[in-house]
Amino acid sequence: MIREDNVRKVVPYVAGEQPKTKNVIKLNTNECPYPPAPGVEKLLAEFDWDALRLYPDFDATPLTEALAEFYHRKKEEVFVGVGSDDVLSMVFLTFFNSGREILFPDVTYSFYDVWADLYRIPYRTVPLREDWSLDAEGFTAPNGGVIFPNPNAPTGLLESVETVEKILQANPDVLVVVDEAYIDFGGTSVMPLVDKYDNLMVVQTFSKSRSMAGLRIGFAVANEELIRRLNDVKFSFNSYTMNMPSQILGTEAVRDADYFRKTTARIVATREWTKKELTRLGFTFPDSSANFIFASHRSVPAEEIFHYLRERNIYVRFWNKPRISNHLRITVGTDEQMKTLVETLEQMPGILA
Ligand SMILES: *Cc1c(COP(=O)(O)O)cnc(C)c1O
Repeated sequence: MIREDNVRKVVPYVAGEQPKTKNVIKLNTNECPYPPAPGVEKLLAEFDWDALRLYPDFDATPLTEALAEFYHRKKEEVFVGVGSDDVLSMVFLTFFNSGREILFPDVTYSFYDVWADLYRIPYRTVPLREDWSLDAEGFTAPNGGVIFPNPNAPTGLLESVETVEKILQANPDVLVVVDEAYIDFGGTSVMPLVDKYDNLMVVQTFSKSRSMAGLRIGFAVANEELIRRLNDVKFSFNSYTMNMPSQILGTEAVRDADYFRKTTARIVATREWTKKELTRLGFTFPDSSANFIFASHRSVPAEEIFHYLRERNIYVRFWNKPRISNHLRITVGTDEQMKTLVETLEQMPGILA
């Protein structure tokens, strides 16, 4: 047996369950219920499998250029990675090296503390206010970097551009990462502020609003200098991260802006319907700007509802963690799925009482 001190020890991130059967209404990992853009299906069917003999383009050039065009940036301001988890992991490795604590909210994406531990980056969490909003003042203390999602996960609450700017202004000499995994569901991206703040990096993903969690595509936008630093680390880690099909299919998804707008608008409409229904059933929740709702029932404990739904093949997310153990995070699916969810909840003893 090798000695224990040879091993890097870390408690891994736990992702939501991926069911083995097909008859599950899966509302537990914030995937999109609609398929990717139609052109993606066509390109996948026509894919030249012989091309797989070759290494992919290590710069993912067409995809990077398509994103640059879509978001009106230079291609030197865009970095793509294998899901935003890969991008964020590279960001932690590249920019949080001062030995000073990095800051993120206490209730937030539960991968941040895992990367911090993995890379031995000290961190401190800043408590969200009682109403789940971000306490911008809490991010003004000296630190080694800042990261938060906007909208936040798992609360779904969107912070204003002014709040984000306040945090950027308070931290001119460290990187501030805004994880915009859910920004396409009605929020305003701070991406244009990259021109105004040289300490800003915006990270987004194809996994939620672009229906492509299975392909693993994420990207970051920041000034050229920061993207160059990120690439230096990425190419010291693994040059060929993104596979060839993901590059081709991801590029097509970006090109079909119409489909993207249609599906995100549909999800927003379904979300608003679901909010009304959940309110009628006695749930409360922060007003979500994401593709999920973080709900708590007035009398039935979240854990009981979680098990009740799971037995009926409806999967939602529940965490037995401080502050959030009486909440469920419910992904917004299709109208039909949400109707089934509401009807199933109505049948649960105690919900309407
Ligand atoms: C889903 C999610 C990600 C990661 O998404 P990828 O599938 O790795 O692109 C990152 N941050 C937040 C806040 C998320 O919810």
